[in-house]
Order: sequence, then structure tokens, then C-alpha cells
Amino acid sequence: MKNPFESLELWFVTGSQHLYGPGPLREVAAHAGEIAAALDADGEQPIRIVCKPIVTRPEEIQTVCGEADRDPACAGLIFWMHTFSPAKMWISGLRHLKKPFCHLHTQYGATLPWSSIDMDYMNLNQSAHGDREFGFICSRLGLEREVIVGHWQDAHTRAQLAAWSRVAAALHQLRQTNVVRFGDNMRQVAVTEGDKVEAESVFGFSVNTHGIGDLAERIRAVPDADVNALCDEYAETYDLAPALARGGPAEASLKTAARIEAGLRAFLEEGGFTAFTDTFEDLHGLDQLPGLPVQRLMAEGYGFGAEGDWKHAALVRLVKMIAHGQDHGTSFMEDYTYHMNPERPLVLGAHMLEICPSIASGKASCEIHPLGIGGKADPVRLVFDGKPGAALNTSLVDMGNRFRLLVHEVNAHAPPEPLPRLPVARVVWESKPDFETGLSAWILAGGAHHTCFTYSVKTRQLESFARMAGIECLVIDDKTDLRAFRNELRWNQAAYGLKGLCR
Ligand code: MN
Repeated sequence: MKNPFESLELWFVTGSQHLYGPGPLREVAAHAGEIAAALDADGEQPIRIVCKPIVTRPEEIQTVCGEADRDPACAGLIFWMHTFSPAKMWISGLRHLKKPFCHLHTQYGATLPWSSIDMDYMNLNQSAHGDREFGFICSRLGLEREVIVGHWQDAHTRAQLAAWSRVAAALHQLRQTNVVRFGDNMRQVAVTEGDKVEAESVFGFSVNTHGIGDLAERIRAVPDADVNALCDEYAETYDLAPALARGGPAEASLKTAARIEAGLRAFLEEGGFTAFTDTFEDLHGLDQLPGLPVQRLMAEGYGFGAEGDWKHAALVRLVKMIAHGQDHGTSFMEDYTYHMNPERPLVLGAHMLEICPSIASGKASCEIHPLGIGGKADPVRLVFDGKPGAALNTSLVDMGNRFRLLVHEVNAHAPPEPLPRLPVARVVWESKPDFETGLSAWILAGGAHHTCFTYSVKTRQLESFARMAGIECLVIDDKTDLRAFRNELRWNQAAYGLKGLCR
């Protein structure tokens, strides 16, 4: 799939004023150019950073903000006040700005030249108070933004900026994402429902349904040569169960899975869809519930949600975009069953079939087993254990008057014992801060059984995303205290109620 960061830009905008004369302003512009170029050249930074001319008047600020909003390549802005920039000048520009922005609170020189410092130096290097003036007006206007504090040459500061840049760019792309649903929601399930109109208004992605019959037709049209080429690829890439191999008794089932994969991919490409859902309750015209095909499409970067779950299809796509180029594994997931061992209780996450092989700890095996629901032929699937490591389990739910993003920090482990009879991909993890507190908080927050599970994206990035999109974000981590968490839920309920009244 296309690199989501390609051809996107972040605009580096430095504020100042005319109080100091032309000499210092030339220095401000030169320093801004030097900083922007260095940030742009940073190996971790995936998006082009473009230095814009320094702004010193309200009209210039309005112009650059308006141009940023109109430019389809601009994913966001980075603001920095090298000197003092009286912030009433910023009101009109910021008031109308729709693109996300980050306030980089930095300073040109890292350390003070103690023996030579004079008032000229002080007048030029006054981010310490110039950025406070800017921070005030952002807070006064109630603007959501990221604040990154640190010297621009410092690796930690650059990493924070790169992490934020990924989120800004991914949200930019999410606003142009089309999610296709094959079939509706699983009957009677509540948490996978939601307001698609509100979602498009808040996040920008569209969700539309296409008939499963149209997909079935596209699958039937796949040439045999494409089916055979995919089967060869499976045999090379995975440990293929002997029954599925050429001449084996289930060879035809593997071909069916390959045909579904090719047809599904073609349907998505031709329709411009980068995320999709299906449901085992609506498979008319398909021979198997798509397992292997969905797993492989997720590994390519497509978002997916089972049982019509378009919110998690979009979330998986979003997280895969944020992680693009450095993804250590991101998948659709379901909290499935528990190992309530008092010494180290674990969650076993899995799904009927559809777990992304990007989270596999080794080579996946390609197998065929019966599926008790759906009433279709035995589906082919990839089976593997998830890899160990720090991960996030994250869920997006519709609370009626707002979307809530729930982020749970977990530690994935190798399964304590082999699972020879479990015919699906799975990952086991330990809940932070502990099993009882973490899962109590999850249940109290109304977190779904469907999630996006990722080893790459960080909590701070998802918090940034929630701020940019203007939605609620709740975090369960090693500091979570259940009493405080319950209060946070209660206070957020009130805060969003008030927000609704003020709208
Ligand atoms: Mn499910």
C-alpha cells in the first residue's frame, strides 16, 4: 500500500515582532531555517518539514494559517516563538486554524554563554517567555495542541516531534479514508454499533456498505493464474499444512482462500478502500469466512474489523498508518479468554480467524480447520503465537455524546505452555497495573471486546490523536488507581455533557 507520509508536509512557523529592528529579525529567520532543516533531516522524522517565513504581524499569521488549511499537502504546523510575539496578533489566525499544531518550546542555543551574555543575547533568545505568551493565547482560546519541550538538537525532543508528526499525518490520511462494510453489524451486538455520521464529522473517514454479492462476483472473476500464483506464495511464506499442499485433500480450499484474497484486494483497490469489515452472518456467495485473506490484507496495511465493526477497522488502519515503516506488529484483536493463575494472570487474545501475522513471533503455519459458526466450508487461516513485548490494547467506543478511546498498556508474553489444539492465532498478555485493576477499569470504561493491539504506537501518540480529533481518551497504565479512574469517568461524563450544552 501507498506510504501514508509521502508528499505530506509540516510547516515550521516562527513568531516574532518588529520591536528589535531588522538585524535581530534576520537572525531569527536564519535560526528558524537552521532548526527546521535539522528537524527535517532527522532520521526519525518521516514527514517533510518546511520552513515558512517568520511571522511578525496579524495579517501574516492569518495568511499562513489560512494557507495551511487550504493546502492538501500540509498535515500540521509546528509553532515556535524565538523572540516575543505579542499573542493578540495570533488570535484571528489560530481561531480559524483547522489543521493540528504542535508548540515546540525550544531555544536556539542549548546553553547560556555565561561570560558574554548581554541584553542583545537576551532579546534574541527569549523563547522562555515568548512561548509562554503563545501558550497563554492557545489556552485562552481553548485550543488543543501538543507541547514538546526540549532543545531541538536533543534526540529525545526530536523523537517526540517525530512521534507527533506521525499522528498528525495519519489523522490527515484518516480524514480521506473510506471504510467498506460487507454486510451489517453482527445481530444484537451493541458495542460494534455507533453513529457513522458523527464518526465522519469527527474523524473524517466514511463508512459505507457494499453488497456481499458484489464482492462474490469480483471474487469469481479472479483468473486461475492469479489463484495459483498466490498458492505458490503461501507455500513459500508459511508452513503449509500437508492437506493444503498441491495434491493434498484440501488443496481446493486453499485455492478458494486465494481466490477470495485476490478478489477482495481487487475490490478494495478498485473502490479506493483502505479498511473493511465483514461478518460471518452475511457470507452469501462466499464459500468460506475469509481468514487467511483478511490476515494477509491486514499485514499489507489494511484496517479490519470483524462482525461489522467499522470503528475498529478504522482504528487498525489509523494505528498502522501511525506506525508505518517501523511497525513491529499491529492487529485487530479480541480479548477472548483468561488464565486466572494468581501468580501471573493473563489475557488470551485471539479471534475466530482474523489476527494479523505482523504480530507473529515466528513463521506462521497455514492450516484448515472447521468453524462452528457461519455455516460455511472450513476456512483456511494462519496460526501463530504473538510475540512477547510491551504493547497497547486500544478500543474506540461510541458513548452517545462522544467517542471514547481507551488505551491499555500491557506486556505480551510467550504462552506459558504450547497450545497444540488451538487452531487460531493468539497472543497472551499481562494487564497493567495488575489484572484486577486494569480489567476493572476497562469494564467500567465500557471498553469493547474488539480492539487494536499494537507493539509500535505509544500511549502519548494515541493521546495526541484523541486531542487532535477532539475525542475523549482514557489510559490504563502502571499508575492507574481505580478510585481516581472512577472519578475521571464521572468528571469526563460531566465535562462532555457541558461541552454538548455549550455547542
Ligand atoms: Mn469478534
